[in-house]
Amino acid sequence: MTSKQTVDIKDLTQSDLEDFVVKLGHKRYQARQLIKWLYQKGAINFHEMTDLPTNFREALRRVAFISTLTPNEVEISRDGSKKFLFSLMDGHSVESVLVPEVSRLTLCISTQVGCPLSCRFCLSGSMGFVRNLTTSEILNQILAAQRQETPRRRITNIVFMGMGEPLANYDNTAKAIEMMQYDPGLGLSGRRITLSTSGLVPEMERLMATGLRFQLAVSLNAADDDTRSFLMPINKSHPLEEVLESCRRFRLRPRERIIFEYVLIDGINDSPRDALRLVRLLKGIPCKVNLIPFNESPEQEFSRPDEKKILGFQMALLDQYITCIVRKSRGGDISAACGQLRGRFRRVQNSP
Ligand code: SAH
Repeated sequence: MTSKQTVDIKDLTQSDLEDFVVKLGHKRYQARQLIKWLYQKGAINFHEMTDLPTNFREALRRVAFISTLTPNEVEISRDGSKKFLFSLMDGHSVESVLVPEVSRLTLCISTQVGCPLSCRFCLSGSMGFVRNLTTSEILNQILAAQRQETPRRRITNIVFMGMGEPLANYDNTAKAIEMMQYDPGLGLSGRRITLSTSGLVPEMERLMATGLRFQLAVSLNAADDDTRSFLMPINKSHPLEEVLESCRRFRLRPRERIIFEYVLIDGINDSPRDALRLVRLLKGIPCKVNLIPFNESPEQEFSRPDEKKILGFQMALLDQYITCIVRKSRGGDISAACGQLRGRFRRVQNSP
């Protein structure tokens, strides 16, 4: 079924799929039916696609396969969030986190095994970079998490805030965003898909130029280049002003804003002076700031500021009319909070 010559059908975008279907001697519109089966009904084989002609299903079975992910582990937090550990075909693994809220159900997905960016405060990068996820592996996280939820609630929002830097896996991330929006399929609106990036400027520009809709989130984490370069080595290639220039070019619709994420780390980037610098930096950009108090782990040198400092930082921004929330970390008790995802690729690889 999954031999190397056959195509993982969820690696194909809508237009790829149309071409693929036509090449098989069938009608272009049948791609639409296929997408409905794959993404709306969660089909796991071609046989069950009963409204497609038998010879079409047979042809598909010969040249393609339907990949799926099944969680090896599901951990449930006291706050109701769930962390899934997915093993991939080559034995590596990634994690996704499902976060229920009153009016939405958000899935935080991964785009890479490990991460090449080595941000000093983030565990995802501490084991280095292993590989990019394929388009199907990105999309299958959603389908697999949804399968666990069915029929209770539908996943309403996707955030690219799991392991990896989505824009360092540009092609597969862009294809996945496109397929998430396709209707009939997952049919998610661009407003409900948040792409978080550490600021890979050329890829940010490239993705903007595609005209794809998504909510842009940028991990700023510092308000001056020295601090940012210390925390995030990528800043040496794309310094703050370059990142913000690119943000200014991002075409926002009415009422839309860019999200800036700012991990508050005690004694590093949490002073009143940092807050004022941040205010100056963001002047004129329609935005909101998400403050994320640093999530600690035993192997890291940093700590979380106390509540007074966190609140002080938030107030300094609010005083200057910058919308700013302190993001409540979810799933900390199961290591599912921001920066705590790292998969288990080492252990899985070494196990007999
Ligand atoms: N690489 C992308 C996507 C990952 S999102 C990006 O950098 O935006 C993960 C978010 O969690 C980022 O905003 C990151 O700055 C933040 N983060 C990483 N480690 C953290 C930690 N230990 N505590 C709190 N937030 C953290």
